[in-house]
Amino acid sequence: MIKTTLNNFGKIKVLSFIFTIILVLFYDDLPKRTLVLVPHVDNFAQETTDQVVGGNSEFEWLDKDQLKWSCTFKNQYAYPYCNISLAWSKRPFRQIDFSPYNHVKLDLEYTGAAKFLRVFIRNAYHDPKNLDPLQSGKFNNITKYAASFKEPVLIYFDELRVSDWWIDDFQVPPEHVSPDVSATIALGIDIPHPAPLGNHEFHLRSLTAIGDYFSKEILYFSIIIFWSILLLGEIIVKYINLQKKSRSYSKILSQMSEQSALYKEKAETDKLTEILNREGLEQIVEKLKEQGLLQQYAIIVLDIDYFKRINDKYGHAVGDDVLRELALIISSCMRSYDIFARWGGEEFVILFHCLDDSHLLTFAEKIRKAVESATLIKGKKSLITASLGVAKINNPPNFNSTFKMADEALYAAKGAGRNRVMIYQK
Ligand code: GH3
Ligand code: MG
Ligand code: MG
Repeated sequence: MIKTTLNNFGKIKVLSFIFTIILVLFYDDLPKRTLVLVPHVDNFAQETTDQVVGGNSEFEWLDKDQLKWSCTFKNQYAYPYCNISLAWSKRPFRQIDFSPYNHVKLDLEYTGAAKFLRVFIRNAYHDPKNLDPLQSGKFNNITKYAASFKEPVLIYFDELRVSDWWIDDFQVPPEHVSPDVSATIALGIDIPHPAPLGNHEFHLRSLTAIGDYFSKEILYFSIIIFWSILLLGEIIVKYINLQKKSRSYSKILSQMSEQSALYKEKAETDKLTEILNREGLEQIVEKLKEQGLLQQYAIIVLDIDYFKRINDKYGHAVGDDVLRELALIISSCMRSYDIFARWGGEEFVILFHCLDDSHLLTFAEKIRKAVESATLIKGKKSLITASLGVAKINNPPNFNSTFKMADEALYAAKGAGRNRVMIYQK
């Protein structure tokens, strides 16, 4: 599950990387936002010549529907001019915001001697004198070599300049002198001064505003945001998975430690009597030694007298019951500091916590009597006794040698007729 999530992220990253590279490399080839301005049925063309100021230059439509015209420049006026403005609609003029676009593609056929042609875009401008908007609109313009119009020309809006004469004529405040195409009303074509005298022919075939659906800046910004979110998401998912993993590991660990504690307890417990076995006793002896407490103890070795006969007489299962019952009886005589274990067979060991040696014999006798007086075989009057050998652990403590002494004392008790306590004497 964890692996799958990471693999998914890997796939997403590879796909995203490929997609990012494609977007960056082929940005210019992405589909464009377009607006066809010519040909368009609503267009309204208006011509202007220097005749309004006393000149004699002439404008003539060669084919108005096809937007073909001619200008004949004559020198009666000092600055001859002749041009057309192509508005997007008849009056009142429709305004088009060019902000979503970044250039217009202009397909203009020009025949004439002019070296330069000027393209201008009129943008609605509040004029207090309330003149014709085609005359007063902001004059954003660019001059291009006439020869470049052999091919469709791209006019980028950020290349446009506002003419000084327009700023001067309308006393434009400084904050309004920059190019502006947010409310365009018309595009015009003329020949900048000095225009060669004579005939010039024009055919405006098409005009299209073109822009990207999203700018390069927005693209790069989106890519950065996308990758940030993707990588952050991956880190978060990895972190959550790691948390899950570590939680499941710690669960497994605690289960294992519980299990091993259980095994340890089992390994140190005698199956039959459920008291400590030899292994368990040795572990405790080791701990007591480490803690410097072992010398506070005495070792009592207890062996059932003639136990073989019990087995022989009543069977092994009854023998087991006797061992279990005996363990219970002896346990009931123990105090909290005493330790009781089955050493093996019908032999038991008691570590008796003994700060006063005089208590030793009393305690061992108490156990012997408890065994002697117990009914260990249910319903049967069978006297079962035990012999006990006792030795006090000295300082420095040595469990094995003390055990041997207790065992010797037990052997002596057996030899002396059984059912008795013997304390080891040097
Ligand atoms: P003594 O007084 O000299 O100790 O005589 P004894 O018969 O008790 O000693 P011996 O060592 O000859 O016999 C011990 C017997 O204990 C032999 C064996 O069958 C029996 N025994 C040892 N372990 C078990 C056990 O787990 N269950 C049963 N039922 N009997 C056991
Ligand atoms: Mg024995
Ligand atoms: Mg015995």
